[in-house]
Amino acid sequence: MANMLTAPQNLADNVNNVRLKIAAAAQRAGRDAADVRLVAVTKGHSVAALRAAATLGVEDFGENYLQEAIAKMDACALETVRWHFIGALQSNKTRVVAERFDWIHTVDRLRIAERLAAQRPYHARPLNVCLQVNLGDETSKAGVSPAELPALAQAVAQLERLQLRGLMCIPPVETDPERQRQWFRLLRHLRDELGARGLALDVLSMGMSSDFEIAIEEGATHVRVGTALFGPRAG
Ligand SMILES: *Cc1c(COP(=O)(O)O)cnc(C)c1O
Repeated sequence: MANMLTAPQNLADNVNNVRLKIAAAAQRAGRDAADVRLVAVTKGHSVAALRAAATLGVEDFGENYLQEAIAKMDACALETVRWHFIGALQSNKTRVVAERFDWIHTVDRLRIAERLAAQRPYHARPLNVCLQVNLGDETSKAGVSPAELPALAQAVAQLERLQLRGLMCIPPVETDPERQRQWFRLLRHLRDELGARGLALDVLSMGMSSDFEIAIEEGATHVRVGTALFGPRAG
């Protein structure tokens, strides 16, 4: 893992730049920048980098790998930040997410949601859940298909100890930004269709380092940004 001991030199500049871009994109879309959460993706980056980002006011952190995430949570002991699980989750690993995270963005089947609901501690607030949608029906990617989304959403919304908040995507890679925009627009439409069926969801988790500004223009409420803050990851 790169940079395990130090934070990037230019982290403060990077955080500031990303915040300025978030504000500008929100303004272009006539949105309030306060409605867009920056989730700093710290996979492959150090506890020092995470602490430094928290000192700069970052309040939301995203991790993909459970062992790495738990080690870093224990080491940094930041009580006030929110932890988002954004990686692939096997059904035999749900307990750690139910016990240690505030959010999961990658639920794509009912069995996982049921286990998370059963394992969420009673003293904790409900676990915030986004359903990952495989917009391009890519075999290489996780996510529920758009066709199966309504049934999954209705079922997850019934589960106690979970709060279904919205949808998440990792769209197909496009070189043309306008084509990229269409994928984000599709996720928003899927969210609005669920709303028309009586399932109001307030969250769209979409946009990463290369495309978060377009995602915000299309309604993203949570952007998951790693490289633009912390630099490249090893491996
Ligand atoms: C790694 C990762 C990100 C961050 O990607 P960057 O391109 O480094 O910003 C966002 N979302 C998910 C699901 C990821 O796995």
